[in-house]
Amino acid sequence: MADSRVAIVTGAARGIGAATAKRLAEDGFAVAVIDLDEKHCAETVSAIEAAGGKALAVGCDVSDAEQVQAAVDRVAAELGAPTALVNNAGVIRDNMLFKMSEDDWDTVMGVHLRGAFLMSRAVQKHMVEAKWGRIVNLSSTSALGNRGQANYSTAKAGLQGLTKTLAIELGKYGVTANAIAPGFIATDMTRATAERVGMEFEEFTKAAAASIPVARVGQPEDIANTVSFFLDERAGFVSGQVIYVAGGPKA
Ligand code: NAP
Repeated sequence: MADSRVAIVTGAARGIGAATAKRLAEDGFAVAVIDLDEKHCAETVSAIEAAGGKALAVGCDVSDAEQVQAAVDRVAAELGAPTALVNNAGVIRDNMLFKMSEDDWDTVMGVHLRGAFLMSRAVQKHMVEAKWGRIVNLSSTSALGNRGQANYSTAKAGLQGLTKTLAIELGKYGVTANAIAPGFIATDMTRATAERVGMEFEEFTKAAAASIPVARVGQPEDIANTVSFFLDERAGFVSGQVIYVAGGPKA
């Protein structure tokens, strides 16, 4: 890989984003660790630096256009032009349709869809200038439909459409765009779901693993490895794809 390419990972204070930021630093990227609160990024940044990598903590709400532009400008000034982007920041506001508020709907659309749009729009300029770029969007098996997640499944399906369109529009500039649709990954997000349904996390993961062909739930590193593949120099002919990383063929 060319020296010191710069990657941005959103929602990288914890979970899948943190594991991805660390993995990309191991791969040789300088990594901008973006999350809502800059202070919460410190752990990821320290881990990267302790392993000899380069990282920058940036506080930014990805659903806010001004904050997104300011964050991307800061990354470009302090780390260098970002040419890899992982749109990972996410929230859940699960509820059955009849109980889902407009706020639950708008919040989820704002972070996942508007966030990925704003970040991609702000970063593409650097990719087009460099004639090289990699975008990875975090979709989900919920894109196929999931009870209690009308908002989330819609946003995650929408991200697949965004991914394919970015691949078509940006391909001629050397930019690929792909999506990863994880199944059950053990993070705070799935912990929150366990809590919502009134189960201990261990019991919840055991039950989930029972219906997964590889007989275990996923770990953040399973997704980080897949992001690493898409960002590799040698993956330049893979674009507009959605890969389900779910321990089996079905959600
Ligand atoms: P997580 O542990 O809840 O982490 C999500 C991170 O995103 C948090 O650090 C959160 O910050 C940050 N974030 C939320 N809103 C943001 C905003 N507006 N701007 C910037 N950052 C924001 O989630 P995860 O499980 O690692 O999930 C990561 C991604 O994978 C999400 O897109 C999720 O939908 C997707 N995914 C997860 C699973 C799974 O099983 N875990 C499955 C399929 C897809 P705060 O801590 O400050 O809220």
